[in-house]
Amino acid sequence: MPAPQLASRIPSSHPLYGKKVWVPRMSDGSARIFAAALRSLGLDAAPLPPSDACTLEQGARHTSGDECYPAKITMGDCIKILEQEGSDPRKIAFFMATGQGPCRFGQYIHLMKSEFEKIGYNGVTILAPACETGYSDFGPGANLYARSGWRALLAGDLLLKYLLKIRPHEISPGDSDAAHEASVEDVCRCMETPWPSPRIQLGKVRESLLRARRRFRRVPTRFDAERLLIGAVGEIFCRLNSFSNQEFVRALERAGAEVWMSDITEWIWYVNSDELRMYRLTGRQFSARALGSRLRSFFQKKDERALRALFAEDFFGYEEPEAREILHSAAPYLPADGALGEMTVNTGRSICLAKRGVDGIADISPFTCMNGIVCEAIYPQVSKDHSGIPIRNFYCDETHAGPERDIGIFLELARGYRRRKPWPRAQPLFPAPDERAGCAS
Ligand code: SF4
Repeated sequence: MPAPQLASRIPSSHPLYGKKVWVPRMSDGSARIFAAALRSLGLDAAPLPPSDACTLEQGARHTSGDECYPAKITMGDCIKILEQEGSDPRKIAFFMATGQGPCRFGQYIHLMKSEFEKIGYNGVTILAPACETGYSDFGPGANLYARSGWRALLAGDLLLKYLLKIRPHEISPGDSDAAHEASVEDVCRCMETPWPSPRIQLGKVRESLLRARRRFRRVPTRFDAERLLIGAVGEIFCRLNSFSNQEFVRALERAGAEVWMSDITEWIWYVNSDELRMYRLTGRQFSARALGSRLRSFFQKKDERALRALFAEDFFGYEEPEAREILHSAAPYLPADGALGEMTVNTGRSICLAKRGVDGIADISPFTCMNGIVCEAIYPQVSKDHSGIPIRNFYCDETHAGPERDIGIFLELARGYRRRKPWPRAQPLFPAPDERAGCAS
């Protein structure tokens, strides 16, 4: 079937008519794919340009110092757009996720709005779509947004997971990054196309991911069993945004590790499960909203299974824990009905990864974030209860030096733990060079 033409415009009654939507570059690939999904709704959308020194300068100038690092970076990136020559604030919309639990992010929407107005940029739209409001910011495209946005995040997670699995074992430096880049572009082209139905879109995303799988499988690799496997948990923005964490994953790889990074979609599953918990708590478990929430989860799970199944063999030994397992594991330390947010998810996930055979856990969090601070207090007990697995907090802040020195010490501890750990790692599957040549699927 030929690809339908890109929708070039939306009706003038649409709330985002005539605006350009900028998506924060939390994870490079996911932000690009997500922006492409918004384009399929007829919106003019793009990821924010990569952060740089100017980001930090503008972020510092327009925040008070009490905000967390992700807020400072996002503020700086948004101001850079507003200060571009000829920019018209009324034609700009910034996409912002909202937060819950002990997280300040939900407040930053108001902070940004008032700061923009204070410095004379009136009329900027802050787009903070929430399932509670039926994603009404997207007008008639709300349902399509919910489905396409989810698929975009899933695809971004899968591509990053594959990249991180093979890059430390590649024979020619740069091959895995090239395969990842080509695959992100391919998925973007697919996601930005307004396919006639969600079913057809899913088929096209699967085809695109199969092409990605083929690209990754063809990358010449030699599995190095000596490499340590390190689980990366932490605050969602800082662990995924390579600018804010100073390319932490690459630093770990250079030091002799392979990184198993927490997905973005893990957070969505946690939010879904917490939403149902709240309905139960308030006696609304049989309400129309609760039913809607269950239905949404049902379709999300269906999409997830359809896309993850393509990589079942490739990700043997890297099976992601479900939200239920994560929260169950966290319960003795931070029960999900008493402690909310990333601290609970990160504690539970650390335990799940320990049982999947990782050699250590790195928690990447912004300096001053309560989630990271609580986790740092909990981790010694978690480690003690799990054969002494090293779990180390790495804080991100523009004033901190590079992570190399701390990484060296941490990996030494991980090496010691690997010799005595009770949970062996499943041997991952890497095609042998002669099999790779014939990778047709
Ligand atoms: S989790 Fe912490 S760092 Fe992240 S947005 Fe919330 S308060 Fe800020």
